[in-house]
Amino acid sequence: MESKPKNLELLGLNLNQLQDVAVENSEPAFRGRQLHKWIYEKGICDLQDITVLPKSWRNLLIQKGFTVGHLHEIKRLIAKDKTIKLLLKTNDGETIETVGIPSRNRLTICISSQIGCSMGCQFCATGKDGLRRSLKASEIVSQFFAIKEAFDRRPSHVVFMGMGEPLLNIESVLSSIYCLNKDLGIGQRRITLSTVGVKNTLPKLAELALNYLGTVQFTLALSLHAPNQNLREALIPTAKSYPLNTLLDDCRHYLDITGRRVSFEYILLGDVNDNNEHAEELADLVGGFQSHVNLIAYNPIDGEDFQRPSLKRVQNFMNVLEKRGIAVSLRTSRGLDKNAACGQLRRIHL
Ligand code: SF4
Repeated sequence: MESKPKNLELLGLNLNQLQDVAVENSEPAFRGRQLHKWIYEKGICDLQDITVLPKSWRNLLIQKGFTVGHLHEIKRLIAKDKTIKLLLKTNDGETIETVGIPSRNRLTICISSQIGCSMGCQFCATGKDGLRRSLKASEIVSQFFAIKEAFDRRPSHVVFMGMGEPLLNIESVLSSIYCLNKDLGIGQRRITLSTVGVKNTLPKLAELALNYLGTVQFTLALSLHAPNQNLREALIPTAKSYPLNTLLDDCRHYLDITGRRVSFEYILLGDVNDNNEHAEELADLVGGFQSHVNLIAYNPIDGEDFQRPSLKRVQNFMNVLEKRGIAVSLRTSRGLDKNAACGQLRRIHL
């Protein structure tokens, strides 16, 4: 019996890999270049539509189980500010969310790296139902095309801040970064990978990123969310096994290996981690890094106790950091309509 190819989705494969697919399937390497052009430049979803290829070869690939690998959109929410959240269905019937956030000069796509999440952060809807599985590189890259189609415009920036913890899916995430960068032309500096921190993974990320990409220029954003270990453990259960000191040491090591500073994310939860003392503590913690701190005002989800912080508290928090010489910005909340927080749309469709 003929054995099936290991990777049936062509999306996520680079030029060399597509050339290999061509040669392994009895065609010259230039067929791989044609596949590459039609999949990435033209955004073709169906192998049958790659009309530059001989029909008999298209049929052969389809017979063998090859697909381009696009996910299917099953639900679309459009916020008043034109942010679009899509619910996409995978081939095995799972669902993931992806979000497009437009502004005049950019279209940012907030990408999911897993179906669900095992980290269980207290303030996050995605973590409520645990992890189903990690996404393949093709499923990650497919989100780019889904958002491109929804906006009829190319995404310019990518943030891995959707469902899942990217450092629990490092290889697929790095493959997809390679593809977004080299095959789809998004500069690495326009890509941000956000992590809440997973023990023993930052050194591996640094090493593999250098191997995969040659140079590391994407931004690694560490979601701190608390200025001390106790509060962090209360908000992020997995922080118990990964003390803040070790985590920050790993960030220094990451800088040594890759030459890229880690930036910090901090979600402001009303009356939980948003007072001036917290801001002072945070400044003590990250002051030596000369890194940027991104503040995010919490986006409330149904059935959660957490509140959005008041504007005054947010402003005070920023003022404290600025006075301490920390570069800080407040990320504008987008798509604050119903079910807009990460993981909410998927939850109501489970
Ligand atoms: S915030 Fe991120 S890491 Fe935490 S549960 Fe949600 S998706 Fe997972």
